[in-house]
Amino acid sequence: MDRIILHSDLNNFFASVEAAKNPLLRGKVFAVAGDPEKRHGIILAKSQPAKELGISTGEVIWQAKLKCPDLILVKPDMVSYHRYSKRVHEIYRRFTDTIEPFGIDEAWLDVTGSTRLFGSGEEIARKIRHAVKEELGLTVSIGVSFNKIFAKLGSDLKKPDATTIISRDNFKAVVHPLPITALLFVGRSTREKLERYGIKKIGHLANADPNFLKNLLGKNGLLLYHYANGSDIGSTLLSQTPPAKSIGNSVTTAYDLTTEQEIRIQLMMLAEHIAARLREQNVAGALIHISIRDRNLRTITRQKQLELPTNHAPAIADAAFSLFQQHYDLSTPVRSIGIGVGNLSSDTGNLQLSLWDPEHKRVNEQNLDHAVDHLRNRYGFNCVVRAGCLHHQLKNYTLTNDPQAPSSLCTLPGCRH
Ligand SMILES: [Mg+2]
Repeated sequence: MDRIILHSDLNNFFASVEAAKNPLLRGKVFAVAGDPEKRHGIILAKSQPAKELGISTGEVIWQAKLKCPDLILVKPDMVSYHRYSKRVHEIYRRFTDTIEPFGIDEAWLDVTGSTRLFGSGEEIARKIRHAVKEELGLTVSIGVSFNKIFAKLGSDLKKPDATTIISRDNFKAVVHPLPITALLFVGRSTREKLERYGIKKIGHLANADPNFLKNLLGKNGLLLYHYANGSDIGSTLLSQTPPAKSIGNSVTTAYDLTTEQEIRIQLMMLAEHIAARLREQNVAGALIHISIRDRNLRTITRQKQLELPTNHAPAIADAAFSLFQQHYDLSTPVRSIGIGVGNLSSDTGNLQLSLWDPEHKRVNEQNLDHAVDHLRNRYGFNCVVRAGCLHHQLKNYTLTNDPQAPSSLCTLPGCRH
């Protein structure tokens, strides 16, 4: 029996999230750009009206401004993009457990085993599009096919907010007239090689001599031949990414830190992000580790075990600060600092909260965490900030994922998640 594979692609993802967050941007000609203050920043995403004016991803701001002088530019907010991406994946998970992410805004879903519950592949695609639009205000284009390659190709054919079906019956009519670059893995150099021999369309690939393709492109040539003919060899769907073993963040501050108060505030800011990520994944960790790099680039790492696991920012910050006080004397200023939380478990029934809190206060703290998570999901991470961190100069910092926590979920450069 054929598998039923969906490939779901969020349309104009970064720009759509910005419009979902800020109603004033809806329907406007705007783009998300790497560094809006610099003329040479790059356009990372554009709204649908901007797309219609010819603004394209990857072009530099001054070029885009030539096409559209009134183009509104928005800074990227990776924290929100990750949160939205996760919420979209939660919707996917209602329909299947077999999901293979492809970047932040695309994923394959194997729904072969889900049709009795939810209907045909086309019906599931419709339900996903509806849920994503209703619940998150975003649109997706979905390709439905019997293999990953055609599902991916299908999601590119109609945009935005559309479903494309590529079946065994119609794939020759739909896919074969398309240029070879519509096929995943056909980049510029492969295209140039194939075009030299008149192979310009996917149908040409499908009808070429497989030995010729193998001689021209090696193994990849054979693979492309099979893809063009609708066989999906070697492209099994991965299931969910494995859960993280630890979650951490580190920061290199704008200036070296010299006082305990600065360290404490910095640790609190890191702990806030880490705790939110732990709660988002419904996990808690009992191993707290810190890494400190001094002005001379000497790094030390220390760790301690808590009695109970935690996903509460003050408990993480307290443990990290006590480690710092025990192991570092501040005679050399600190250049960067990081926290990781390990030994993660999904048992979040009995958590370590602030070390000195009486029992009744714990419930309040947990309720507060949930309320803050809820607000941040809706209005962005920085809508709630601890008063102690609010006006501090340390706000001007760059947060990076902690190299000590390689299995943390976020790997995008510049991501603060
Ligand atoms: Mg996309």
